[in-house]
Amino acid sequence: MKELILEMEDYAQERNVPIIEKKSIAFIMKYIKEHNIKSILEIGSAIGYSAILMASSTEDAFVTTIEKDEERYMECLKNVKRCGMDKKINVVFQDALDVNLSEEVKYDLIFIDAAKGQYIKYFEKYKYFLKDNGTIITDNLKFHGYVGQSNKIESKNLKGLVQKIENYIEFLKDNPEFDTKFYDIGDGLSVSTWKNDK
Ligand code: MG
Repeated sequence: MKELILEMEDYAQERNVPIIEKKSIAFIMKYIKEHNIKSILEIGSAIGYSAILMASSTEDAFVTTIEKDEERYMECLKNVKRCGMDKKINVVFQDALDVNLSEEVKYDLIFIDAAKGQYIKYFEKYKYFLKDNGTIITDNLKFHGYVGQSNKIESKNLKGLVQKIENYIEFLKDNPEFDTKFYDIGDGLSVSTWKNDK
């Protein structure tokens, strides 16, 4: 499997597909082991790199991952099969904001790593699918160092996107339902858990 992981890293670099930084996925894999996490929902599969590594963290970790881009979805499916992970990873081809998950299934971990401008929407939609002792982890909160610098950015699109991530960070800090810790790991991670009085 190690070779396949390296191949995926090369593929992502060659085609400019954003995949999670090594330090960040190492942190998440450790978190999965330490918290006995079994059911994982990932928003934004890309080519399946993080889904495969999360699913391989422990024997009983299962991942449902959602991807809206067809080419990435196909690549993800292919990689999941090549790694022999088809029984541990369920890949869904749809926009995460349109998916209707069964309300009976709740997850130990939800990993948000899709369109950065939609983070608040993903969080608000998917918190209902999180167990009482579950965790929501979000990636790319530094966005290559741009976050916190939006007033200096000239490109309108980039500025808008970075402002949305800044808003998401404020949303997490002020959240009445969740406590969030922020980690300066990789491109910036947050770890949110329900407040105690839930
Ligand atoms: Mg990411």
